[in-house]
Order: sequence, then C-alpha cells, then structure tokens
Amino acid sequence: MTGRRLLFAHLYPGHMNLYGDRGNVLALRRRAEWRGYVVDVLDVNPADPLPLGSIDLLFIGGGEDRHQELVAEDFVGRRQELVAAFQDGLPTLAICGGYQLLGHRYQVADGRWLPGVGWFDLETRNGSDRAVGNVVIESRLDLSPNTLVGFENHGGRTFLASGQEALGRVLTGQGNNGQDHMEGAVRERVVGTYLHGSLLPKNPQLADWFLAQAVGARTGNGELPPLDTELELRAHVLMVERLTGGGRR
Ligand code: GLN
Repeated sequence: MTGRRLLFAHLYPGHMNLYGDRGNVLALRRRAEWRGYVVDVLDVNPADPLPLGSIDLLFIGGGEDRHQELVAEDFVGRRQELVAAFQDGLPTLAICGGYQLLGHRYQVADGRWLPGVGWFDLETRNGSDRAVGNVVIESRLDLSPNTLVGFENHGGRTFLASGQEALGRVLTGQGNNGQDHMEGAVRERVVGTYLHGSLLPKNPQLADWFLAQAVGARTGNGELPPLDTELELRAHVLMVERLTGGGRR
C-alpha cells in the first residue's frame, strides 16, 4: 500500500470460487472505497507471479475437488513465500476448499490425498456424506457482534491438532467435522473457514476486521472510520435468531 491505496490478491479466481465467494473480495473492496481507499485487485492464476511483499490482503475461495487438484501443486509450490508472508502478518481469508489446502493434506472424495501448504495444523479427511446447510458460529476473534453467519457445503471433515486455534464454536450446522463443534482455524492473521455465503457481506464486522488488519499492518494504525452498517447487521441478527431459535447451544 502506498498512501491510501490497497492491493488485494485473489488466488485462483477461475478455479476456486464457489457459492459467491468472489463477493468477499467485492465487499472488502467496497468497504475500503467507502472509506476513501483506492483498491486494486490482482487475480492470480496458477503460474502467475504473486508479489506478496506489496499485497495487503490475500483471498482464496472454495472449489470442487477437481479444481482443488488443479491448483494444489501450484499452491504448495508457493509454500515458502506464503509462510514467510503469513508470519509477517499478511491478512488472509481462505474459504472451504482454500481453507482445506492451507492444512497439511486434503483427502478427495475418491480417497486420494492432496498435499497442503501446512500453515494450519490440521488435516481434512473425506466424509461419508456432504455437510450442507446454514451455519452460525460464535467467533473467537474480537468482533461485535461475535456471531458469524454463513452457508456450508463440503465433503471433507477437518480435524485440528490440539494446539491449533479454531475460528469459533458452532451454534448451528456442522463446521469443521460435525463432531467437536469447532469451525475454521486462525493463525496469525490467516483465517480459514467453511463459511460461504458470501461470508463478508453477511458479516460486515468480519470484513472490517480484515480491512483493519490490512491497514494496521502497513501503517501501524488499523482504526477505520465507521460506516453505516445498520441494514447488514439487521439481516445478520435476523439470520442468527432464525437459525439458532434465539438460543445458544
Ligand atoms: N471440495 C471440497 C469438499 O467438498 C471443498 C468444497 C467447497 O469449497 N465448498 O470438501
């Protein structure tokens, strides 16, 4: 970023973009522009250069197994530079198939394993059926409100190692594996989650968390001027109430 410019990178937009995942990039862009930032989005396909040193925020969406297979080698081939950037605090959002590929390995539906980048201490095994439906989680990030709403559709079941922090606790839906009530993973400023939706338009407080991280990482001051988010938050709260029956498990 120079001055009030932000550069986002969208990894594998042609392969990894299910259920409106691209809407996350649009939401980030629009919320930054409303605050006076000029935003550029760099689409990065396999073999394209990824200038991580000048990127403020990285996004990768979900994908079908065959699309994950097409990008896995390229993604893992960038492991060293990605890990260095993550350690340096690059804000990154990875949804579903992208999230799975940030773990150690991912088992596709026919039983074979794809290698992962290994940033998150987790692995994803093939499940006997697909986890499909609306999800509400209670986030471990410092968000207000601290609920996140989304939609999941995945065959993989993700299991975190004991030291790996989850993104949150499942209130409704399956999340990582339908057993331990955990959803997603967080390490440094990298967030992985099963929530499509698109996630960020439904959860503007999370969109602003990412923008604050991006701005703060470069300038040391992640304070953002507030935006009128009343309508989005009303929709968010309505969905939380509808899906959890107003109560919490
Ligand atoms: N192919 C992966 C799975 O089925 C990811 C799907 C997705 O990104 N929605 O688990």
